[in-house]
Amino acid sequence: MSFKAPRGTADILPGEVEKWQYVEAKMREVCRLFNYREVRTPMFEYTELFQRGVGETTDIVEKEMYAFQDRSGREIALRPEMTAATVRAFVEHKYDKQPQPTKWYYIGPMFRYERPQAGRSRQFTQFGVELFGTNHPAADAEVISLALQVAQAIGLKRLRTEINSIGCSECRPVYREKLIAYFTPRKDELCADCASRLERNPLRILDCKREGCRAVAKDAPSILDTLCGDCGPHFQAVREQLDAIGIDYVVNDRMVRGLDYYTQTAFEIMSDSLGAQSTVFAGGRYNDMVREIGGDDLPGIGFASGIERILLALEKEQVVMPIDEGIDCYIVALGEGAEKKASELALALRRAGCTVDRDYMNRKMKGQMKAADRLKARYAAVLGEEELSRGTVQIKDLTTGEQEEIEASQLASYIRTQMKQEDQK
Ligand code: ATP
Ligand code: MG
Repeated sequence: MSFKAPRGTADILPGEVEKWQYVEAKMREVCRLFNYREVRTPMFEYTELFQRGVGETTDIVEKEMYAFQDRSGREIALRPEMTAATVRAFVEHKYDKQPQPTKWYYIGPMFRYERPQAGRSRQFTQFGVELFGTNHPAADAEVISLALQVAQAIGLKRLRTEINSIGCSECRPVYREKLIAYFTPRKDELCADCASRLERNPLRILDCKREGCRAVAKDAPSILDTLCGDCGPHFQAVREQLDAIGIDYVVNDRMVRGLDYYTQTAFEIMSDSLGAQSTVFAGGRYNDMVREIGGDDLPGIGFASGIERILLALEKEQVVMPIDEGIDCYIVALGEGAEKKASELALALRRAGCTVDRDYMNRKMKGQMKAADRLKARYAAVLGEEELSRGTVQIKDLTTGEQEEIEASQLASYIRTQMKQEDQK
């Protein structure tokens, strides 16, 4: 009998996990700078929340949800995305009654039943932000610039930002009709998915990656010509805000995003170092969702970003992350008495803030020194019966090979002083 992790999932092992920690730490730092606070919600919710919040005609709800009945027959879904969940928490805890704006971020696993491939898995991790309570165009620009600052902080370079406005409940229905009128006579040229979307969600046809559909969509009317008296000027104002802070972007009037809840601004940040799954940050406004989930009529804007994809892009761009896997000191102990003393020394060193390990395999001197190398130890503290009787240790610098004998009680301060001097160099 042998077990494997379920299809579309991955183990993140030591060696790899440090990259995650590094990237996540940068995300947290940037969120702090922009004054976004972390929120953690359950990994599963009532299925209805996503049906309602994300939308029945989206890929996510139509075919990607991990939904099931629990033992009491409740309809439960592993969260496929976070916006609906954060909106639920925002409303449930009455943040909609508080002074606005509310600025939140999250990092955590999402679940979608998709065909696994590079940049696409069934459990994946999203970092994202949500900014509630303002329709100010500077808020749109802030969210986009936060994403770009995260990208910059972690060292991603080859990025493209595309923006669009997808209108509101006022102007989108008008655009919808125009699209239906345009696509209906060309229905035969569309793929089966798109043909079936024609009446339900014609905007999604613009999002189809198939060659045939793209060719037909090329000459479809532009949403930008249909925006209403609110959405047109709002889009213009967002562009001015982006220009004002020097963000490069292109307007892509075919970008509609896969989620139905978006209104007005939609944006994607793509990495030129990735192939087919190139979107690393994707977001937009959702001005109706808080109300639809039962809260006050408050707007929102946010984005989500796949951390797996970010790491893939970092790898493609050969970004070297400053990751230190080594330890400060390995204690080499020989003999029964020395071995007991080793634990005492290790504890004292750890209390003093040094990363320390010791032998548990009863290895001989040579084997313990090898272990020290394997663990990338900076120093080895060697403790034999003689050192034990003298109350000393031999401290060996494993990069220079230099060795000296010092008081065992001085070990912690010795290592700390040496390392501090090195830091200053
Ligand atoms: P796509 O067009 O790639 O399917 P989407 O519209 O489904 O994207 P969103 O729901 O907006 O994507 O998710 C935001 C980000 O989350 C994506 O840009 C991507 O980085 C990441 N993401 C989405 N689905 C997956 C997945 N199955 N595996 C890994 N990352 C994913
Ligand atoms: Mg998708």
